[in-house]
Amino acid sequence: MEKRQVLDPTFAAKLIEDTLSAYPEKARKERAKHLAVNDPSGKNKVISNVKCRPGVISSRGCTYAGCKGVLVGQIKGMIPISHGPVGCGHYSWSTRRNYATGKRGLNNFVTFHFTTFYQERDVVYGGDKKLDKALDELFEMFPLAQGASVLSECPVGLIGDDIGSVARKKEKETGKWIVPYNCEGFRGVSQSLGHHIANDMWRDWIVERYEPKDLDPDWEPGPYDVVYIGDYNIGGDGWEVLKIFKAIGLRVVARFPTDPNVWDWPKAKYAKLTIVHCARSTQYFAKSMEKKYGIPYYESNFIGATDTFESLRDIANFFDDKIKENVEKFIEKWTPFVEKVKAEYRPRLEGKKVMLYVGGLRPRHVAEALEKDLGMVVIGTGYEFAHDDDYEKTYPKLGEGALIYDDVTQYELDRFVEALKPDLIGSGVKEKYVFQKMGIPFRQMHSWDYSGPYHGILGFLRLARDMDMAVNGAPWKYVKAPWKKEMEV
Ligand code: SF4
Repeated sequence: MEKRQVLDPTFAAKLIEDTLSAYPEKARKERAKHLAVNDPSGKNKVISNVKCRPGVISSRGCTYAGCKGVLVGQIKGMIPISHGPVGCGHYSWSTRRNYATGKRGLNNFVTFHFTTFYQERDVVYGGDKKLDKALDELFEMFPLAQGASVLSECPVGLIGDDIGSVARKKEKETGKWIVPYNCEGFRGVSQSLGHHIANDMWRDWIVERYEPKDLDPDWEPGPYDVVYIGDYNIGGDGWEVLKIFKAIGLRVVARFPTDPNVWDWPKAKYAKLTIVHCARSTQYFAKSMEKKYGIPYYESNFIGATDTFESLRDIANFFDDKIKENVEKFIEKWTPFVEKVKAEYRPRLEGKKVMLYVGGLRPRHVAEALEKDLGMVVIGTGYEFAHDDDYEKTYPKLGEGALIYDDVTQYELDRFVEALKPDLIGSGVKEKYVFQKMGIPFRQMHSWDYSGPYHGILGFLRLARDMDMAVNGAPWKYVKAPWKKEMEV
């Protein structure tokens, strides 16, 4: 392996030590396990997927956020009911840019906020009856809904409500699909458990319970059928990838949840391959399809041109020569375009230092795209809610000396940024304005800063353009008042 040093490991280790020295002893010891100086062989490991330390300002969300906000809220035909008090549904209302087609209020309910709005009496007497009534009202108001997703907020599990039995009863009465998710925020340690709960419910309540022919009598499985999971269509990401699959001759029979049609999901058990984009959030489903039906799965990366081409070649290896030839033709067709994008943006971004902090996938996927395609240098990356397997995939992809931070605290990130002065930070909205005030270019790596898509080949153009706009944008020249600059002279 080529040894590529991006930071002096001794300096990086000292930076971690100095930062930790501000904490009381117990916190220092605990947080030290979450910070490491990268060794691409994976020698320096962080611990992950454990409880946050109270009071340190973690960026994490909860199980409800992972379940409703990330996976379930995008199932456009199912009414997503935030079951509990008003807050969780309100704050997660239309904040994730998970695009979906359809007619809003007819067969698409993604951008609504539905809540059972618990009051004190619901906490005292239980909310099952209220949920029962809410389902009746909603199906009356929105008769074209395929069903409903019931997403529990904290109190529901604490007061002993039984949303599963309400869902079963209402399914019989209404003939709609009703899926109960016990994704209360007190469960687990982050968004991550919410993903797992959603995967299991999709498998048990939808894929396993129904047959494709129940819903689409003419449907027959085909030799090039695939399932695409773990792409949330942020700014249209998934649509870019679906176009590519079509161009290379694959038939996507079900997608979870890129602009999904939930009635297609039972077809997943007849596919030839499950293509996973975000492994953190959907590998559970992929693994269960492999275990039960022998369907292999492949972890793709459609961020950046190099990895998109590489993923397509890997996918083609699961199929015959026809798909392999189609992939080569696709790559041949788009290579001149990719080279043009690189020729324009790479000279403006080459060597620029980047720090990333995102959720469970992009800290490595985006890092690879920025380094391989645009020549940027990732000097730090970290995840809010990754597990050990994500970090194992990350160490070899980064240069030696890069900082690795798990569930980083706002204090730690501030100190790292102050010391390292990156040319670009890619993180979330809670971090954005802090670092912009420090005079450091910032791109939101959850919402794509209302831009995107970044997936696929056309997405690569937007990714390159946006990184250039951030790093080389004019405002950064004016961060310091002219008279202060003069005083420095
Ligand atoms: S922790 Fe509980 S109250 Fe807070 S957002 Fe999550 S479900 Fe809602």
